[in-house]
Amino acid sequence: MTEDEFDYQKLGFKSGLEIHQQLDTNKLFCNCPSVLRMEEPDFSVKRKLHAVAGEGGEIDIAARHEAEKDKEFIYQGYDSVCLVELDEEPPHQINSEALKIALRISLLLNAKILPITQIMRKTVINGSNTSGFQRTVLIAKDGYVETESGRVGIEGIALEEDAAREISKQGKIVVFRLDRLGIPLVEIVTAPDIKSPEQAKEVALHIGDILRSCKVKRGLGTIRQDVNMSIKRGARMEIKGVQNPDLIVKTINFEIKRQINLIGKARNIKPEVRNALANGETEFLRPLPGAARMYPETDLPLLKISRQMINEAKKTLPKLRKEVEKDLAKTGLNQEMLNLLLQERMLDEFNALLKLYNNPNLIVKALILWKKEIAKRENLSEKKMQERLSVDIIESIIGRVVSGKIKERDIRGVMQELARGKSIAEAVKFEKQDNGAIEEKIMKIIKEKPGLSPNAYMGLVMKEFQGKIDAREVMEIIKKYVK
Ligand SMILES: [Zn+2]
Repeated sequence: MTEDEFDYQKLGFKSGLEIHQQLDTNKLFCNCPSVLRMEEPDFSVKRKLHAVAGEGGEIDIAARHEAEKDKEFIYQGYDSVCLVELDEEPPHQINSEALKIALRISLLLNAKILPITQIMRKTVINGSNTSGFQRTVLIAKDGYVETESGRVGIEGIALEEDAAREISKQGKIVVFRLDRLGIPLVEIVTAPDIKSPEQAKEVALHIGDILRSCKVKRGLGTIRQDVNMSIKRGARMEIKGVQNPDLIVKTINFEIKRQINLIGKARNIKPEVRNALANGETEFLRPLPGAARMYPETDLPLLKISRQMINEAKKTLPKLRKEVEKDLAKTGLNQEMLNLLLQERMLDEFNALLKLYNNPNLIVKALILWKKEIAKRENLSEKKMQERLSVDIIESIIGRVVSGKIKERDIRGVMQELARGKSIAEAVKFEKQDNGAIEEKIMKIIKEKPGLSPNAYMGLVMKEFQGKIDAREVMEIIKKYVK
């Protein structure tokens, strides 16, 4: 199968995305910190959940599927969680910082913010919520994003509580950790307007860009992308947890292929929730839940979003990556340096230094060299990294380069000494001696094995120094001695 073999229009392909992003604030309905803990838990409690009939008297099909398994749930907690996570205390007022972030995201998605909205309970029966439901509140609706192949609607933007973290599953016993339960998530649901896998990827990338411009958590597990899709004569599938936008295309194509196969065998395809795997394939998770799994959260009042709050959000809208890139390009940064700077998120440091020295490429080179190579090699923690090489210290290094006290190529060596805990004055001194020592060693290597090519010497020198020196600098020295 190759991706372009499918005629998506002919297949009647339709798709929408559901994106969940953790916000970088305290928890949504209590003020506990949103931190995942790695240590042994401080306590654990055991619970059992039962499927109960909803408003209409019917047990939800998905709820029944889970309850049939008759599971036992163990919840592990820490001093960083409170009685709200344990469902022993009613929820507190909604976290106002999380609400403000959700408002900005809604505006960036061109959505209409609801002036009054109801916090709801959404039935969750897999045990990942101690209460048996997840609180969710619709913040805005009817937005859109533009793509190269047309506009894709945003049906809704909601604020939700993240679920507890599953730690292990053995037989009927499932162990969860409460540290993640209650972390604010913004949920973005697009309309089923997406007409090709490439368009799905484009939408995911665009929404990702908007999210990252706001105060959201970063790293593995902080964003989850679900793909809803269907083809003619197939059935609707909800594919959970597609790892990254690049995998979206592959995953959709695999699912189309799977459904075409089943249609070919005249099999009846039922709507399902499927789990996305890292190789683009999917596996059955559970039947697709029916509607009406929501009912109002009676412990909380209606949420009012004032005109003033919306105006405030409008005034504090962040710049999207594309705009940031445009501004950076104006400073004279080349594309490679620009990408590195954004990737390493050192924009604040860059702007501070740029005010002092109008040499953008040198500044980024120094920042990236520090963060990506030296601090990593020396295994420095984030805190140590900031202590040993603050913006002030980088400023004094660049200052020395600009005033000619050290050469640009000495930056690496100076930083290496700083990383090992030397002061800037010592580091600069050490670097000057060190350069002489390097040249001496290179001369010695050339003398020991005469007649080799510069590249061969290069290999020997790099081996001698275990790659810990600047290759360009080595080559310069070699070329002084070898023609
Ligand atoms: Zn709490």
